[in-house]
Amino acid sequence: MKDDILAHLRYSLGKDAGHAAIYDWRMALSLTLRDRMMDSWFQSTKTSYDRHAKRVYYLSMEFLIGRLVEDVAANLGLVEEARAAVAELGQDYDLLVKDEPDAALGNGGLGRLAACFMDSLATLGIPAMGYGIRYEHGLFEQDFVEGQQIEKPETWLQQRHAWEFERPEVSYKVGFGGHVHHHEGKAQWHPHETVIATAFDTPVVGWQGRWGNTLRLWSARPQKEFDLASFNRGDYLAASRSEALARTICRVLYPDDTTESGKELRLKQEYFFTAASIKDLLRRFFTDHDDIRQLPDAAAIQLNDTHPAIAGPELVRILADEHGLEMAEAIDLARRCLGYTNHTLLPEALERWPEWLLGRVLPRHLEIIRAIEAGQQAQYPGSPRILDHGNVNMGELAFIMAHKVNGVSALHTDLVKSTVFADLHRIHPTRIVNQTNGITPRRWLHGCNPALSGLITREIGEGWAADLEQLGALRTRTGDPDFLRAFMAAKRTNKERLSNWVQDHCGIAIDPDAMFDVQIKRIHEYKRQLMNILETIALWNEMHANPQAGWTPRVKIFGGKAAPGYHVAKEIIRLINDVAAVVNNDPVTKDLLKIVYPPNYNVTMAELLIPAADLSEQISTAGKEASGTGNMKFALNGALTIGTLDGANVEIREHVGAENFFLFGLTAEEVIERRSHHGYARAAIEQSPRMQKVLAQIAEGRFSPQEPGRYHGLVGNLWDHDHFLVSCDFDSYFDTQRRADEAFKHQATWAAMALSNTASVGWFSSDRTIRGYARDIWNVHSAIDGQLEQSA
Ligand SMILES: *Cc1c(COP(=O)(O)O)cnc(C)c1O
Repeated sequence: MKDDILAHLRYSLGKDAGHAAIYDWRMALSLTLRDRMMDSWFQSTKTSYDRHAKRVYYLSMEFLIGRLVEDVAANLGLVEEARAAVAELGQDYDLLVKDEPDAALGNGGLGRLAACFMDSLATLGIPAMGYGIRYEHGLFEQDFVEGQQIEKPETWLQQRHAWEFERPEVSYKVGFGGHVHHHEGKAQWHPHETVIATAFDTPVVGWQGRWGNTLRLWSARPQKEFDLASFNRGDYLAASRSEALARTICRVLYPDDTTESGKELRLKQEYFFTAASIKDLLRRFFTDHDDIRQLPDAAAIQLNDTHPAIAGPELVRILADEHGLEMAEAIDLARRCLGYTNHTLLPEALERWPEWLLGRVLPRHLEIIRAIEAGQQAQYPGSPRILDHGNVNMGELAFIMAHKVNGVSALHTDLVKSTVFADLHRIHPTRIVNQTNGITPRRWLHGCNPALSGLITREIGEGWAADLEQLGALRTRTGDPDFLRAFMAAKRTNKERLSNWVQDHCGIAIDPDAMFDVQIKRIHEYKRQLMNILETIALWNEMHANPQAGWTPRVKIFGGKAAPGYHVAKEIIRLINDVAAVVNNDPVTKDLLKIVYPPNYNVTMAELLIPAADLSEQISTAGKEASGTGNMKFALNGALTIGTLDGANVEIREHVGAENFFLFGLTAEEVIERRSHHGYARAAIEQSPRMQKVLAQIAEGRFSPQEPGRYHGLVGNLWDHDHFLVSCDFDSYFDTQRRADEAFKHQATWAAMALSNTASVGWFSSDRTIRGYARDIWNVHSAIDGQLEQSA
């Protein structure tokens, strides 16, 4: 490996060892590891073709990947060899690993799920391809200036991306606008503008390198590079006009998590990657089929949320307009290929396009949507409408065009059936299924937590990494003091690692013996970071008044970005930072409470924080979090959850046992009931002197003395509206936190509870999730023998 690294340094990067910078070494190492994926990758492709295997096509607007060096090295079993080779070359392996920028082509949970699924598909040996967009700028970089979020463009592609292969020969035209020509019953779309989608392939090799799939990300380039005639005439703008659209389409990831922005460019992005992906999979299909009617036997197309929902009309368009199928047959055939994953019930997140806009950008697709609508209404009169009040409802479109629709946790799926899609569920009672989300144990335990994963492997062998339910064997060790000590020593190692990092990056000294209480996720009102910081203030008040009362020292850790246009979320960020500035400088509580909010939460930061957490904050308003996957990562790494009965928290609690989970708050049903009471927030606050005091402090400017009125709006909204019921859950949250304090004082029992979490959440492996999709939705099989038989 050492020779290979040197060869890449020399021949791929054009550097000799004497002049190489850390970037060059990291690239040389990455290219060396990439080489070692090739045999498995080629062999997998060959096997898929040889067996005419049905493939999964996972269409996702986002893939939140993170770094890859360690991930690839670990999957190939090459970490030790790589580390030794790098050391022999006089370099520090850990520094090289840290030099890699995060591939942050996603906002949060939805994009991270897609990345975990890619890892599991490869590990299970399921022939699959991920399709998405190669954004030039991923999710913005967050910084704080005087406590306020500012956004800076993210620049991961300013350096070469080591893992991808550009495929200039894999290119498709994607059109926009124009008109539709109808002639003798045939329709033909003549787009007004065209861009070329070009593929960039990243190999994704699963555990132990047994199988490799492809993540194919599309980049846009202009159809005509530039117009030489105009240029020669001196008309430089006209010469590059066709470049403008191509350059903007893949320029940036929209930073709105669960809020729909309704922008024309966003629609173009969606159609761009969806159309290229459909063309690509059809091209592959026709290499070994000639009857388009066999498509459902060869391709399972999964839509990760409604972002690629235009896949339905696009496929119908190709089947009807290009292959001459009758409209009804085209719709039926397309439906048999398509599955749709719903990710949210929040009304502001459901995509709707104005009919005029969709008709202008995609005129033929609007006609086809009308045909789909007509077919549905003819067959099921009164069915919920796709076209409604001048809008195109992408949720209804995706539902009607999919043979299976899935929710992402048991509770969420029930709510999908009873709320957003209640009427469609009555018409199609077997279409909605549940597939509870999961996380890949390779990244979220093996990779990020070497201290704990080493201990586990010594105890039960290494089979758990590809069969996470083997962790169940650790349940017998909850009564073994020696093992519990070793388990807590691993946690302690991770807490020290984090303490050092916090000192270096935030300039705050934190005590690894304190309870590390962590809430990291996108900032959103429904996730209730506000309730957490209010509780923190209440705790600080009581600690400050009575510092000798035997408090459990805490470090409150926050992380997360707000959408740039989400005003309330940004106020919450500022409040957390303002409160931190006051609390962290209070000499009375300095050994009892610290608040840490490092900027720019991303996958890499999650990998550092989660293994060091004692307490996992999963406190969303019940009924609002579709699943959550952060909750699973924490439990797997031995944190106890304080949480509501929301999303997958419900199932996590069932698996780990109620006695190992700090439950509080209203249930989803109670939330709905409570909302029907006029003035519920005011009534709740009036019953809570503790909360009143906190709100008064904030409103009086205790944390913003330079601008006492800074949070009037935020506080006023809690009294008068409080749509997410912070007020109603506050006291029960506070009391439950004190139960957690008590439990933490008894470290031996805490250790047993924490170990019960790690031992009991094997079911939340994304391998289990993917087996469920393969069986219930895709009807696909592993091409590695024996892989899918494991319990699903
Ligand atoms: C897992 C993960 C998420 C999702 O977290 P939730 O708590 O489920 O919202 C978001 N961002 C990153 C970087 C993650 O790793």
